[in-house]
Amino acid sequence: MARYSKEDIICMIKEADLRVTTHRVAVLSYLSKVRQPVTVYEIIDTLRKKHSIDQATVYRNLSSLHDSKLIRRLDFNHGHAHYELETGRASHQLVCSNCETIEKIEGVPADDVIKKMLKKSKQFKNVTTHSVEIYGLCKNCL
Ligand SMILES: [Zn+2]
Ligand SMILES: [Zn+2]
Repeated sequence: MARYSKEDIICMIKEADLRVTTHRVAVLSYLSKVRQPVTVYEIIDTLRKKHSIDQATVYRNLSSLHDSKLIRRLDFNHGHAHYELETGRASHQLVCSNCETIEKIEGVPADDVIKKMLKKSKQFKNVTTHSVEIYGLCKNCL
């Protein structure tokens, strides 16, 4: 995964026409470091310690960052959202349908599936990015 410096993050926020605030930088920096999508609770837990950021502020920042397409929101049927940096690249996840375990898997392209889907599609000619969620039971829940 690409590394983002604080300057990169500030640049991203400016390019999205958002005001650069400490909290916005903190949320994006955290999301640029995690290895897989995280829940809002994980974001709050991590940032509260270091940046004395409250829950409402985290929600507000996530919402504006999402509106500006800087972050991607994923659902996983958990009843709460998960977030990751919007890199424009595909995101593939294995998701446990019994507990909170998710595992991001890289290096398994879905090109074939996409090609076949576009071939069958009546309304789409191409795709920009995609995410894949495959559900099952993790080793702990088997
Ligand atoms: Zn979850
Ligand atoms: Zn599980």
